[in-house]
Amino acid sequence: MNLKDAGFSTKLIHAGEIEDQFGSATVPIYQTSTFRFKSAQHGADCFSGASDGYIYTRIANPTIRALEQNIAALENGFDGIATSSGMAAITSVYMALLNAGDHIISTAAVYGPARGVLEQDFARFHVEASFVNTANIDEIKKVIRPNSKVLYIETPANPTMEITDIAACAQIAREHGLKLVVDNTFCTPYLQKPLDLGADVVLHSITKFINGHADIVGGIIVTKEAVLYKKIRHCMVYIGCNMDPHQAYLVLRGVKTLSVRVDRNQENAIKVAAFLETHPKVTWIKYPGLASHPQYKLAKRQMSGPGSMISFGLKGGLEAGKKLMDNVHLAVLAVSLGGVETLIQHPASMTHAGVSRENKEEAGITDDLIRFSVGIENAEDIINDLRLAFEKV
Ligand SMILES: *Cc1c(COP(=O)(O)O)cnc(C)c1O
Repeated sequence: MNLKDAGFSTKLIHAGEIEDQFGSATVPIYQTSTFRFKSAQHGADCFSGASDGYIYTRIANPTIRALEQNIAALENGFDGIATSSGMAAITSVYMALLNAGDHIISTAAVYGPARGVLEQDFARFHVEASFVNTANIDEIKKVIRPNSKVLYIETPANPTMEITDIAACAQIAREHGLKLVVDNTFCTPYLQKPLDLGADVVLHSITKFINGHADIVGGIIVTKEAVLYKKIRHCMVYIGCNMDPHQAYLVLRGVKTLSVRVDRNQENAIKVAAFLETHPKVTWIKYPGLASHPQYKLAKRQMSGPGSMISFGLKGGLEAGKKLMDNVHLAVLAVSLGGVETLIQHPASMTHAGVSRENKEEAGITDDLIRFSVGIENAEDIINDLRLAFEKV
């Protein structure tokens, strides 16, 4: 059947499938570093592009290609580029789209190292960066310079849950000749399709929802069209941050259940958010599924569901938060997110510890902020775990 017209869950299971000589029902792990050429001419043709045969796994590999084509189909993109980690995806995109002297505008509350690598490393190559609250479109307009080349957004942002209007950013990008890049890790293409809203590039930490089982680290980039695809793939291959075939196989296995997992993650998150919102020890909560979220309307328009990431603050600030984290038993005290298991962490001292105090404050990453990634356990058990831990606070 033509998968172009198929539903999302059908694509999850079948997009990128390959036929092999044994009729394998799933994509096998092609655990090989190199590929045998049929002849000297065939080898030369593979390198010149006259033949599309495989050459070497850093360049391309059948298991990895199956995953790349699967995610590209989910994002309605041209093609995918799998990487060894989400950060490898991010740095490959920066490398491909920025030259010395160029300027990038980024969401201030972006994934910590995505900001750190610009401030600490790309700055050494004379790449300039501005970090603003991209949820406020006027802040973006204010910092555009003649040398601005990239608008990089994360929505919902990590961990403030601020939402940026992707279509509005696409319009600004078009007007000013910027490439719009969206980190879609929190939503996955099941809940949000940035390329359909006008983005040029979408990327993921595949470690999170897409793989979903907290057993591999990986990343992926999907572009809207061929020119950027070639440019970014070139950088990935030359840096050498390719995914491994075994890693790709595990993700191909995990992605099949993306829609059923996210449905359950979300169903649970809605219940957990309702519990937190009315708890007397919770001072504030940010969850796109609650009418109290400042961009509730935008979330409804741009995302097909509120997802399962919740940020909240406690009476008593960080000390109270530490007590809570030390007294949950079902929720795992760990960074990362988007898995089948519920996770709890404290961004100011953990994922965003590398961001300066001043920049954290500016980005809204307060000391009392607790980040909660709701898993697919029974909702009553997740809530009971929190209820008992709150009693110790
Ligand atoms: C985890 C994460 C990353 C980085 O991905 P790694 O796989 O850990 O390298 C990037 N963006 C977001 C939103 C993330 O949550």
